[in-house]
Amino acid sequence: MVGGGIAGYTAALAARRDGAEVTVIARAPGATALYAGGMEIVDNLESLLASQPHHPISRLGMDGFALATELDSAISILQLALSKEGLKLEGGWRTRGMYADIHGLARPANVVPSTVASGELRSLMGKRVAVVGVPEVGDYDATSTALALKELHGIEAFAAEVAIPDLPPAASLTDLYGRRAPVPKRIKAEWIAYPPGFSNFPDNSFELLASAPSPHGWRLQQAIGLGAIAAEITSFDVGQGRITAARAGDRIFRGDAFILATGRHIGGGLRAGRSTVEPLLGLGVFYEGQAVGALGTRLHHLRYLDPASEMRTGLATDKRLHPLTDDGAAPYSNLYAVGAVLGGYEYSGPCGFGVPILTGWLAGRWAAKQAA
Ligand SMILES: Cc1cc2nc3c(=O)[nH]c(=O)nc-3n(C[C@H](O)[C@H](O)[C@H](O)COP(=O)(O)OP(=O)(O)OC[C@H]3O[C@@H](n4cnc5c(N)ncnc54)[C@H](O)[C@@H]3O)c2cc1C
Repeated sequence: MVGGGIAGYTAALAARRDGAEVTVIARAPGATALYAGGMEIVDNLESLLASQPHHPISRLGMDGFALATELDSAISILQLALSKEGLKLEGGWRTRGMYADIHGLARPANVVPSTVASGELRSLMGKRVAVVGVPEVGDYDATSTALALKELHGIEAFAAEVAIPDLPPAASLTDLYGRRAPVPKRIKAEWIAYPPGFSNFPDNSFELLASAPSPHGWRLQQAIGLGAIAAEITSFDVGQGRITAARAGDRIFRGDAFILATGRHIGGGLRAGRSTVEPLLGLGVFYEGQAVGALGTRLHHLRYLDPASEMRTGLATDKRLHPLTDDGAAPYSNLYAVGAVLGGYEYSGPCGFGVPILTGWLAGRWAAKQAA
């Protein structure tokens, strides 16, 4: 397994459950460590299948019922595994809530940490919510957050400032990480909202979502990162249509199957340039079903006109998640590609975690079968 984000973790989990011996190799934390705190799995599965033929979930060629069954298993087993690592999650892929970030703006999510779950915005409408502010912290303002919660979401929110005098000068939100949540005194509130990062929360409280660097992302990365070997894969050995080994300097990792869970630009799975490339095996990089190399300058123009569309660039796979070359062939029968390295969807959109979790889950199971 190359990659230590949520895709690599889920793939390793699935493969181990099916009896495979798994080695996870990761260079560093990737986009998973930056997520805001709300996992978006999928918005409307049927409409996705009907309208997005290049989406990695559509490319699996499975019907809605089969996908739903796999998502049910993947999400529940992931939640169980993470709770054993000390990170409790709530929600499921069939339900979608709205949660506020530190500025009071709403973001959708299907699965959230249990410390975030009580902050579902519709359930807080009309409730009195104290938003904890820390006067020593410069990059967050509880008064504006409370105002946004009130004006945008109909919540009776107000700021409750709590001084933490031992913070360093010019403190930022990251300095709150791991500190015990301070409880504001003499306030009348049904709920207390905290900026993300504290620990030991009182009852009737919740955390807001983060912007990067994200305490939610860091907690998740710590929960999934244990056991990964820190190394950078620089090449693969190939023979007779199969990958036989992955190389990191003079270390050689041999295996029966290999999973590429290398992420997009942040993870390092794709390298941007005049044309985006996959750096390890020179695999095909596609935009809406077409190899980017063949698109000439069209994608460059599009990048300026509509930067979000560039986010749909990435690897394409066959129905068994084998990555394709530019000409549409799947040259390696024991190589799988999963997670944000795949194109055809916006990786920080409605399937931000759905694609890594579902493709990781399926590839882990298929790879384990191959290894048996
Ligand atoms: C700022 C930000 C905020 C986001 N917020 C949300 C959100 O709130 N909700 C949501 O649903 N989605 C969100 N997303 C999207 C989501 O975080 C990603 O889609 C998801 O985490 C990708 O997971 P991944 O495992 O595929 O990739 P990554 O987490 O990027 O992991 C890639 C891994 O591969 C490793 N790697 C790469 N190349 C090599 C190599 N050669 N050798 C060894 N290791 C290698 C990297 O070191 C890393 O460990 C956000 C994305 C960003 C950037």
